[in-house]
Amino acid sequence: MNQSSGQARVIRFFEQLPLAAAVFVVLVSIGMLFEWYSGLEPTGGFYPGGVAMVPLACLEFGMAGVALAFATRRDRPFAIRVASIVLACLVILVALIELAAWLAGRDLGLDLIVFGDQLRRAQWDPPGRMPLNTSIGMMLTGLGIVSLHFDDRTGKSRSHWIGLLSGTIGFLGLIGYAFGVTRLYALGEYSGMAISTAVCLFVLALGIVFARRTTGLPKLLVDPGAAGTVARRLVPAAVAVPFLLGWARLLGEKNGFYDTPFGVSLYVLATVVIFLWLVSWASHMAFESDRVREELLAGEQKAREVAEGANTAKSNFLAVMSHELRTPLSAIIGYEELLADGITGPVNDAQKHQLGRVKASAQHLLHLIDQILSYSRVDAGREVVSAEDVDANEIAHDAATLVEPLARERSLPMEVVETGYPLPMLTDSGKVRQILVNLLSNAVKFTPAGRVTLIVQHDGPVVRYIVRDTGIGIAMEHRDQIFDAFWQVEQPSTRRVGGTGLGLSVTRRLARLLGGDVTVSSKVGEGSAFTVSLPLEAPVGTGPVKKIE
Ligand code: ADP
Repeated sequence: MNQSSGQARVIRFFEQLPLAAAVFVVLVSIGMLFEWYSGLEPTGGFYPGGVAMVPLACLEFGMAGVALAFATRRDRPFAIRVASIVLACLVILVALIELAAWLAGRDLGLDLIVFGDQLRRAQWDPPGRMPLNTSIGMMLTGLGIVSLHFDDRTGKSRSHWIGLLSGTIGFLGLIGYAFGVTRLYALGEYSGMAISTAVCLFVLALGIVFARRTTGLPKLLVDPGAAGTVARRLVPAAVAVPFLLGWARLLGEKNGFYDTPFGVSLYVLATVVIFLWLVSWASHMAFESDRVREELLAGEQKAREVAEGANTAKSNFLAVMSHELRTPLSAIIGYEELLADGITGPVNDAQKHQLGRVKASAQHLLHLIDQILSYSRVDAGREVVSAEDVDANEIAHDAATLVEPLARERSLPMEVVETGYPLPMLTDSGKVRQILVNLLSNAVKFTPAGRVTLIVQHDGPVVRYIVRDTGIGIAMEHRDQIFDAFWQVEQPSTRRVGGTGLGLSVTRRLARLLGGDVTVSSKVGEGSAFTVSLPLEAPVGTGPVKKIE
């Protein structure tokens, strides 16, 4: 059996424990009632000479067991839930009546409802009444089961604590029986908790506590990690070791093998040795898991450094390449202009048309290279913020002027809505302009008809630029992806208008570099609004941009 399958088996055991506990208690209560029915009780039945579980307690346990079994069902239909709560409430009610009978010192008529004749013959005083500690335990059991249903809704863990309390009453009874201490299970000669009652109370409490494994010990015991391994080893030891050692010590003393001081010494010695061993085992586990975690952390750190190094190398490569490509491209554009202007000789219409195509292609290539250059510079943390005093409205106008020809070409009206008063900023105007040009070009590109508006808003220490269009819009599932590098919505219009898929990625990186961000809201078929929020005073310097992929 390997460790993980062993662990899975133990965890499954804890998961099935509540139902098993409920079934066990129901079977015991049926068995006890059968004893009463067949006349074996109250002489001790299966345990001759022992105290019998009174018939009322048998009924209580039967109801509590069924209520717990219903409460453990994962897909509890409404009727099952109600039945479970009603049964648990009945358990509480009967326990309360019995408690009241003890307090009032009067028989309220409930005790002799079942097997009354036999009980009267037993000459108990009062006959058939559930012992005081059993009544309290039953009341807590019922409360615990009811709480299970409400804990699910409130997220609290009342059932856990109530279960622990009722379990303690049962456990005390068990210890009393194991060590022969009558006071732990009986308050009077005829009001003792039967050993079967103590067992059932304890088992039901276990079922209640383990029904919800989201808190306390149950949570730890089903944990698949190191905490679970330690808890599963230590908890049984913490319960069993003192119990068994104490019991063995008492047995030795009773049989006259040794006297009390010797017995206590043996007990102390064995307890110390066993617990020292358990502590050293648990510490070793913690030590090992620390070591593994540190190794993993170190590996992860190394992998991150390698990845960051590779990313920087890629960005450097892109930056250098883009720069190198830009120089000959500028020459191509320059010579094309010379040729087109006829300075180097006359050009006919066909050649003019071809030169126009050369120019358009070269401009497009230049735009792509500029985008890649910006992207790689920001990515490598080489983009510097050089802040200057500027007016927020003025930047908006500059950007709109740059995109104006494109909008005119598409007969698309473009409007700038200013703040109405000068709005001074201390920021990198070149970068803000680049952000707005990117957003405005996209707005124009993706708006077949309607209009494009750039709104400038002032909000305390922040300026907001809103680029609104009446275009094709962006589907909900793409709202985050559009900010990823090289990402484009797969649609005919995107292919038609072209682009790199870098614009928004650069835009967001630049906005974050300036201490702000870009967000989008959109409705497919109705248009989009990109909002750039920037502080009036940009943080100066370079720096890695917050990762957004
Ligand atoms: P591109 O260079 O392709 O424009 P971007 O990063 O600027 O790259 O944009 C990524 C994608 O987001 C575009 O391909 C487009 O599908 C979508 N998009 C951007 N802006 C808009 C907009 N205003 N309206 C509709 N879709 C847009």
